Amino acid sequence: MNIAKVVVDVPAAQTNRVFDYKIPDNLTGTIYQGMRVIVPFGPRKIMGYVLEITDHSDLDPLKVKEIIELMDITPVLTEELLDLGKWLAGHTLSFYISTFQAMLPQALKATYQKEIHRLQDSPFDNDLDKMFHGRDYLDYQEFVERKGSHKQLQQAIQDGLIEMVYQVNSKETYKKSTLISANKDALELEEVISNMSAQAKKKITILRYFQEHPEPIVKKDLIQKLHTTHATIKPLIDEGVLKEEVKEIYRNPYKDDQIERTTALPLMDQQKKVMKPIINTIDSKQHDVFLLHGVTGSGKTEVYLQSIQQVLREGKEAIVLVPEISLTPQMVNRFKGRFGSEVAVMHSALSKGERFDEWRKIQRKEVKVVVGARSAIFAPFENVGIIIIDEEHETSYKQEEHPRYHTRDVAIYRAQYHDCPVILGSATPTLESYARAKKGIYQLLAMPDRMNKTKMPTVEIVDMREELHAGNRTMFSRQLKEDIEQRIARKEQVVLFLNRRGYSTFVMCRDCGYVINCPHCDIALTYHRKNQTLKCHYCSYEEKMPPHCPDCKSETIRYFGTGTQKVEEAIQELIPEARVIRMDVDTTRRKGSHEKLLDQFGNHEADILLGTQMIAKGLDFGNVTLVGVLAADSLLHLPDFRAAEKTFQLLTQVSGRAGRHELPGEVVIQTYSPEHYSVDLAAQYDYEGFFNKEMLLRKTYQYPPFYFLTLITVSHPNQLKALEITRTISQLLIKHLSDAARILGPTPSPLTRIKDRYRFQCMVKYKNEPEQRRVLQRILAYYEKEIQKNDLLIQIDLQPYQLM
Ligand code: ADP
Ligand code: ZN
Ligand code: ZN
Repeated sequence: MNIAKVVVDVPAAQTNRVFDYKIPDNLTGTIYQGMRVIVPFGPRKIMGYVLEITDHSDLDPLKVKEIIELMDITPVLTEELLDLGKWLAGHTLSFYISTFQAMLPQALKATYQKEIHRLQDSPFDNDLDKMFHGRDYLDYQEFVERKGSHKQLQQAIQDGLIEMVYQVNSKETYKKSTLISANKDALELEEVISNMSAQAKKKITILRYFQEHPEPIVKKDLIQKLHTTHATIKPLIDEGVLKEEVKEIYRNPYKDDQIERTTALPLMDQQKKVMKPIINTIDSKQHDVFLLHGVTGSGKTEVYLQSIQQVLREGKEAIVLVPEISLTPQMVNRFKGRFGSEVAVMHSALSKGERFDEWRKIQRKEVKVVVGARSAIFAPFENVGIIIIDEEHETSYKQEEHPRYHTRDVAIYRAQYHDCPVILGSATPTLESYARAKKGIYQLLAMPDRMNKTKMPTVEIVDMREELHAGNRTMFSRQLKEDIEQRIARKEQVVLFLNRRGYSTFVMCRDCGYVINCPHCDIALTYHRKNQTLKCHYCSYEEKMPPHCPDCKSETIRYFGTGTQKVEEAIQELIPEARVIRMDVDTTRRKGSHEKLLDQFGNHEADILLGTQMIAKGLDFGNVTLVGVLAADSLLHLPDFRAAEKTFQLLTQVSGRAGRHELPGEVVIQTYSPEHYSVDLAAQYDYEGFFNKEMLLRKTYQYPPFYFLTLITVSHPNQLKALEITRTISQLLIKHLSDAARILGPTPSPLTRIKDRYRFQCMVKYKNEPEQRRVLQRILAYYEKEIQKNDLLIQIDLQPYQLM
């Protein structure tokens, strides 16, 4: 057993296989499958994953090189995950190395320092003990240099005498913050204010703030909150009115001990009905896929919680996937509240170090439940009892870079391995899943009623074209304005939703209609007010906002469209008394700010919560009785066959935010296409009607779920070359696929140029093409040389969600 089969970290077609390496004597018996090692590869030393240990190599023994050193002392991938990685590579046409890398937390892949920490003071009977020389820990590099025994090291770890500590950039978990607080009480501040000149308005605003909020506040937050500056604060500190201190703040976003514990609720009838088959499957250790179709507020989460409880009783583990943007503190707390410290959270808003800590808890079996975004599907549990995918229709479950997998497929693959159920939950399932459930491939479970039979909010559709005709040029219809004012008067709250995708702020000349595009990407530049610049979101190109139209020199060049900031200003103008909390990428960039804003809204410190996608999901505030959707159809006009489905889903989600408790809710949808079926049927909460209508269209136009799609995107700096290669690929596909497959293209991609590369695509529509992956693999191999030179890029997406 002295040969290791290793996949090396060279993502290329020729190296996408295992290489044999000899295990040197000093490492004999210490290398296991799933560990990472450093191996010689040509002139280089590179990382690789050990897939297998055998005693046989087909190569000439003299040619087999030796492993240089270990990267891990214990395996980082289980046998199951190694197998999953191999399957996934084939399934998505990725390299093995990419799929293995996708399964590990970022921190583990970064360079880090390993340390050997002793866990006991008393010396232990092991040569290793001497190496410590009375120290608490030993640098791993030192251990290697002094030729320590890996066998003894592993033994000591097993015996609990020492542990390996990966020093992940500790700056990540500890952050220093500058805090500002008042040096005087409210009365003294009043005196300071009365002695100030009326010109000192900005300073007075700050002091007024501290009169009401005596507790220290992070300086940056203060500046943001009061729209003030360092320059305004500094003299107040110098005069001793305010004080400044620097403190280390430990950024553990989840304070477990402060979360109120909950117990299982007595189930309502519809919940009982769906629980039964789930529990049966768990008890009989069977694999099955359930589609839980429950309207918003029907109690799906309680079904998840009690299913998990059953799984834990059986001594197994649970994986819960939630879209990144719904992974709100509220959501996390529902799981932590029920299962306490048994829960790990994998969230991209955590720092690298924090995420690594959570992953390690899973690996060490210190937790039983993981709640996380997409990549948590690779949680290294070894005894999985259930996998839950909440909001299964969310497109963020599809990874848009290598390996281009859909989380649902990975979940089902893992669940088959573990003989356990998968629950796909949604109020608006994807057409794919619902069609499968109707065919009996998945089991359909329905929860048509809201908890306590609270009614779904009434939905009003407002035609914005008529508003314009009536002379209303604001972005708020008369009805929405009136409704907002009414809620504020009644001390109820409002959620305003703006879809960001359709609302990019492009710059256009009102005289000649000229739109300023990125010179490298052929898409409109986005206007950034802060420094009066135009930016490209694809390549980061930047230029100053020009004073005249570059084309006709007219000065009437303006930005169009609406960002949340502009909406906020518009509200302030229209309804000055409204207190607004704006939640978008800008106001929630900092960790914890998301939570803070929601807390403030929950405490009724504002009347209106204004936001983007981020607020469409998962929020549950009893006092919200009005939801306004500012432009419902902004998604409808994207070049995407799922546009109607996405619009329907979004409108349904947003509507679900109103009237979740005793107070009845109302939804106002503003649109320029009130007659569109996705808007109309969403307003009627008619999922079935939408499904039938949309299925008919998908069938007519040959889209999923009736056909599978493969999207091949070719890009090259030379336009002709890109076109030519795309044409060749199309012809190869026509030749090698069955006659039933339809090959469309080559056509220019909707985004025809990005970063000075021209993009063409071809699409395959098919029902059954068992040879397709092999053909595509051969095509990739054929172009390998040019791909390696970086001139040519061929992207193959076997389940495309982004058609641009
Ligand atoms: P969904 O996830 O389907 O949108 P939720 O799980 O958020 O719905 O449930 C809506 C509300 O109903 C929540 O406040 C939840 O605590 C409550 N709820 C769920 N199940 C029960 C139950 N069996 N008894 C009482 N309240 C429940
Ligand atoms: Zn012009
Ligand atoms: Zn660009």
